[in-house]
Amino acid sequence: MFIPPSHPRRESLLIRERLVEGFKKGYVVPEGLIAHGRGECFDYLIGEETRDFAWEAIRAAAAALLLARHPVISVNGNTAALVAEHVVKLANLTGAKIEVNLFYRTREREELIARVLREAGAAEVLGVGDDASATIPELFSERRRVSPRGILIADVVLVPLEDGDRTEALKKMGKLVIAVDLNPLSRTARAADITIVDNIVRALPALVKTVSELKAKERGQLESILASYNNQLTLARALQFIRERLLAISRELAGV
Ligand code: ATP
Ligand code: MG
Repeated sequence: MFIPPSHPRRESLLIRERLVEGFKKGYVVPEGLIAHGRGECFDYLIGEETRDFAWEAIRAAAAALLLARHPVISVNGNTAALVAEHVVKLANLTGAKIEVNLFYRTREREELIARVLREAGAAEVLGVGDDASATIPELFSERRRVSPRGILIADVVLVPLEDGDRTEALKKMGKLVIAVDLNPLSRTARAADITIVDNIVRALPALVKTVSELKAKERGQLESILASYNNQLTLARALQFIRERLLAISRELAGV
């Protein structure tokens, strides 16, 4: 599909094309396309930029990943379609494992997503086939299946675009959960320890950059970044930002 360079929604349309391509190849599910639409709506509200509340969460997330003993990046269809290369870069920088974890799990989708990740440079992809042999408690359906070498033993899990139930289940297992979710009101956003309220296409590159910058810091410094982070406050700031932005735009329209 040709999108003129001057089109005001060019970026957003190109992102949609990548999801549609993933859908045609069979690893993005129709529900994933709808979920993206919900995210886009919130992206419009924050003005499609990484705001200070997101940068602060990204900093805390980078510190948590660098401090972790067993960090894991959980990958679904949308994440693979949008940011596979950045997932691999982040895994390489932090020593995190990459695990396929699907709400709508089929062997075919697992394999396709693992292939996308390997093509992006991943040396190892967990959670495919028999590797997803452990189960996490309190969840029914296929998304409770996890890798005994990955999410099961992880202390820190990055779950871009996760569902609320699973975020809560991971929390109950005592894991530190980092979410990327444009909706500051979702259950995922509220249940996670660190919520990056930003589009995954901006948040993951920003996280890679921040991890590279913080990598040289001492553990004590990383610990204090993490300790001073407050997720409730971050979500409150995201909502206040949206409120003020909408107020400013509406005043401009009304000429007051
Ligand atoms: P929850 O289950 O957490 O209550 P939900 O049911 O509203 O949330 P889901 O359909 O489970 O939402 O998951 C989609 C979530 O992912 C939405 O909250 C949406 O804002 C977010 N999302 C979708 N696409 C992106 C994206 N590209 N970047 C960041 N967040 C996104
Ligand atoms: Mg949900």
